[in-house]
Formats: sequence, structure tokens, C-alpha cells
Amino acid sequence: MFFAKGVLIEKQLSYLFAKLKSIRASTGTRLVALAAVLVAVCSTFSYGQAIDAEIRVDAKTNSVEVAGRFLDGGEIRNIAFQREFAGVSGLAERISQMRTLGANGKEVTSKAFAPGEFAAAESIGAFSYTIRLDAPDSTGQAHVSWLKNGRGVLFLGDILPLVLGKASTSATVRIIDQKVGVAGGCSSLAEGKYECSDRASAVFALSPDLRTVKTAETEINLLIEGAWNFDDQAAAKEAAELFGTYREVFGGSPQGPFEVVVMKFADETPPGRFEADTRGRTILILSSDAPFKSQSMQRLSLQLRHELFHLWLPNGVALAGRYAWFYEGAALYMASRVGLKTNRIRFDDLVSQLSTAIAFDRTSPKGVSLAMAADTRWHGNATTLYARGMLAAFMLDLELLKRSKTKHSLEDVLRKLFNDHDRRKASKVDAVPAIIEAFSAFNGTGTLAKELLDRTEPLNVAATLENSGFELADSGRDLKVKEDPSSREKAILNKLGYNNWRKLSR
Ligand SMILES: [Zn+2]
Repeated sequence: MFFAKGVLIEKQLSYLFAKLKSIRASTGTRLVALAAVLVAVCSTFSYGQAIDAEIRVDAKTNSVEVAGRFLDGGEIRNIAFQREFAGVSGLAERISQMRTLGANGKEVTSKAFAPGEFAAAESIGAFSYTIRLDAPDSTGQAHVSWLKNGRGVLFLGDILPLVLGKASTSATVRIIDQKVGVAGGCSSLAEGKYECSDRASAVFALSPDLRTVKTAETEINLLIEGAWNFDDQAAAKEAAELFGTYREVFGGSPQGPFEVVVMKFADETPPGRFEADTRGRTILILSSDAPFKSQSMQRLSLQLRHELFHLWLPNGVALAGRYAWFYEGAALYMASRVGLKTNRIRFDDLVSQLSTAIAFDRTSPKGVSLAMAADTRWHGNATTLYARGMLAAFMLDLELLKRSKTKHSLEDVLRKLFNDHDRRKASKVDAVPAIIEAFSAFNGTGTLAKELLDRTEPLNVAATLENSGFELADSGRDLKVKEDPSSREKAILNKLGYNNWRKLSR
């Protein structure tokens, strides 16, 4: 989303490539309208807007009352709220009883000129309003705030006013009348009171049933709500091992600490559904359980393999602009590669996922490139983004392995990207040239990366498959391993984990 910094959203209900709900056509127009408003507002205000707020939770009405003030004053006349996030629209319509006060505490008249956009007659020092937080009933519970029967999730990104322009992103909040289970991205100041340096990435999980499970990684806090078919200890081991594997892949850890929260949906939900959101340093997984212990664990592992990747990319790096075309495909692909590395999946599983990606990519709407699909992911192009994105990651990995005689792979590029653009040391640069440059540094694959990004037709896998050890089956659709790969091809297959699996299946 264009105004949320360090925020990553996930909507994969049935991994891989779920059919996503269609979004009303009007949403796009409204986004453009909001962008215009924000740009206009940004040019007026460029000073601090740190917020101090009390959020009173009313469990009976599933709503919150927010009362806050701008900490550093200045000429603030406009307040804007998030209206749409991750394809969930109508967020601003949940806000009512808006009151604005001047610096002297006197009521200042304000007008809503669009849902979630308020303009006051005079300068505003403080504000109060109510937000109804009924849970979105289809999808979106991992992405927007909701409350139900005393449990739920609060994202400060859709509860507090948006950060405008270069204003301060910080907020101090006190949560009243509800015990907080997790305050992701915030530090605790006192009972119920938190300091959040970036309100767009602050997540509060509220549930009386959340328990903390210790993991071997001191930087990872695992919180699990209620009863599951997997064991707490096995979940902790999985989270720590996968985190450790990614640390090796990327050559270091991003800035922690991290919260991994596993919760149930608002309502009883049939098996097989999950949503996840990696916001700042917090991974939130909402899921229904699977019927058996092993399935339940496999599901959690899959969710973790994908979401943990996002702690590094994009959340751990200072890259600007939209580049979901790269990090979503790479997350899908690396979730499988890491699954193979750690023997969580079989080589066959990787091959069949790639076959699915090829099939979906061929049904992509005409004239849509990966870059375009990423920009319109919540407006019908998520499948193209995920399928083509994964396929592009695979093709780049294969090219790197082929051209370098297995000396380099996608992992080298990921490591370079993380090392060069680590949020802690790098200043923000544009993502697309940085990614192309990282590929160019290894066997000149930058040109291919750019081609894959801009191509408006299904990707041409066949050329990349030559001399790789893979080929397309007779149908021309499914990917398969060659009957009799050459020694060079075998080396590539083994780098991808082919041998791992064969050793296990013996
Ligand atoms: Zn993702």
C-alpha cells in the first residue's frame, strides 16, 4: 500500500495462488482520490505529528473509543484515516463521533469532506472518535483491526490518523479496559502503555488465551492462542529452525525483536483457511486448525516459511517504491527451497508447485506484466503476481546456477540485497534499480530480471530449462526432471535439493 511504510500484507487463503475475492471497481478511483488529498496535505505540513492516544476497548460493542492529541502542535487542520487496506475497503466508514479540539482544549468545528478525511476550521491540537471494529466477514482479519467477544487485533495503522508527509510516525498509546497479549513493534512503558516508533507497523493482539512459548532464538517471541493439534514445543522448534535457516540464507538477521502470533479467526472457521500479515517485526497468522497433528504442523511450517522470509524482504531493508513483484515471488519460491533444505517437503512438491505456477501464469490476463500485476494485486491480479513472481524467481535461480556452474544462486542475490540495504545501515534507495543491480552483480542476470519484470506475456520457461536438468513434459505444461540428466545438470538439481530428497526416500 502506497502510504504504509514497512508494512507487508499477505492474503493467501489456500496456498498456493488462491482465488481471491473480487474487489469493487470503485475502490481504485477512491484510492486515486485519497492519493490526491494526501499529496495536497503533505505539501502543507512537514513538521511533527507524533501522537499520544488512549484507546478504550469496549468488548460489548466491538468498538474502540480513541482520544488523542498531537504532541508537537503546529498548524494541523486535516486528519486522514486509512480507507482501504489489503483489499478491505470501508475502513473509514467505521469511524463516527469525530470531535476536534484546538490547542486550548476548545471544540473546533470540523467537516468530513470524504469518508475518513476531516478538515477543521482552525488548528487542531486534540481529537476523539469511535471506531466500530466488527470483523470483516470474508477475508481481511489478518490485515485490519477487529474485535469479537473480547479478543481481536488492533493495527494502529487503521486506528490512528495517518502519518502525512514527513511527519513523525511515532505514537504513545494506552490501551484501556483490555489486557494486551502482544504489542508488536512497540515497547512497554507501563501497564497498558506503549511507545510505538512507527504506528503504521504497530500490532496489538488481544486475547485472554494467548500464551508465550519460549524459542531457542532469543529474538523470536512466539505467542499462541488456544488449543491446536500441533505441540507448542514443536512449533517453537520450527520457528527457531526456520529463522536460523533464513539467517544463513541472508547472511545475518534483521533488527529484532520479532513477534510471531498464531491466533484463531474471529469465528469458528472450517479447516484449510489461513491469512497472514508480516507487519514491521510482527508476524500475525490467523488460521483454522488442520484435523491431524502432522497436517497441523505442516501447515504452520508452511505459513512460517513464507512469512519469516518477509522479516528480511521487504521489512528488513530500506528499499523504496513497490516491489511486491520481487519479494512475493521470492518468498513463495524460497519457502519451498527452504522447505527442501530442511526436509519439510519433497523435491516433487517443489516441482508440482512450479508446474502450478506455470499453468496459472499461462492464464494471466493479456498485456499485464509482473510489475503491473504487483501494482494491482488487490484488484484482481494477485494470482498473476504470485504465480509469475514465483516462476520468475525460479528462472533467475536456474540461470544463476547454469551460468556460474552452480557457484551462484538466487541466495547470493538475496544476501547481497540484504547486506547492501539493511535498514539499520543503509539509506533508502529505489527498489527496482537496486534489485536489477544485485542480479547484475552475479553472472549478468540483471538483464533477465528486467525482462521478466516487464514482459506482458506468460514467461518463456522453455529457454531457461535448457541444460538445467528440468524439462517440460510432453503436454508442454508440467515441469519434470529429465530422465537422464548430464553431470552438469545433476549438479544443478542437487543444488536445488534433489539429492536431499533422494537420500530421505531411500
Ligand atoms: Zn508474502
